[in-house]
Amino acid sequence: MLEIRGVRKRFQVAGKTIPILDISEWNVNQGEQIAITGPSGSGKSTLLHLISGIMKPDSGVITIGGERLSEMNEASRDTYRSAHIGYIMQDFYLIPSLTARENIQMALSGSRKGKSRQANIAEWLERVGLKDRGHHKPAQLSRGQQQRVAIVRALIHEPELVLADEPTGSLDWETADEIGNLLLELCDSQRQTLLVVTHDLNMAERFPVSKHIHEINLMNRNMQVQGDIAI
Ligand code: ADP
Ligand code: MG
Repeated sequence: MLEIRGVRKRFQVAGKTIPILDISEWNVNQGEQIAITGPSGSGKSTLLHLISGIMKPDSGVITIGGERLSEMNEASRDTYRSAHIGYIMQDFYLIPSLTARENIQMALSGSRKGKSRQANIAEWLERVGLKDRGHHKPAQLSRGQQQRVAIVRALIHEPELVLADEPTGSLDWETADEIGNLLLELCDSQRQTLLVVTHDLNMAERFPVSKHIHEINLMNRNMQVQGDIAI
């Protein structure tokens, strides 16, 4: 469902070009669950930004579900992302002034009508153990609960592809375990493809497949160039 061909990404900093990613070929099937590990600064977030279409590669082709994302303009990539991709981040990015329910509702705007939408949200809240927390604002929830809300927000429109960038990075280990399992279970039950970036090797071990970013990114011979530049 995801095909990457000859994708390169470089950044220009202070007149120098820093190569970040150079992926000659990578295929991911529908329903696969892959942990992507690697040290800080190795390009993991950049990889997810490219796959989600937040960023464009300098060259190469990214195809998701038969659509050539890398050839769309920014507006089309945004539309594609909101319909087909769920994105989960380390720091949740919930809107502080809105309740859990309202935060989730934001992801559904326009897609479904009134009552069935409310029922759907209630069902999802129950599924992630937050049945009685729908009217809580983020500050009235634990960090683990906030991440559960963010997971529902990312999954409720049933995207084919779920991307998570260090989803347990700011949680204690016990909560991190729970959140990791929840993500695996939810995506498995809907046969969604799940790519999780993590530097938590415990978490990576739970995944059927774990890949180091260097395995995906065949270049990396220029890693030391990055080290020379204080970014
Ligand atoms: P990771 O998520 O593995 O920690 P990132 O993908 O965030 O790594 O970053 C990879 C490298 O690219 C880092 O060296 C980082 O400093 C650099 N980088 C990321 N974004 C930019 C940018 N917008 N401009 C220049 N350099 C960047
Ligand atoms: Mg990162």
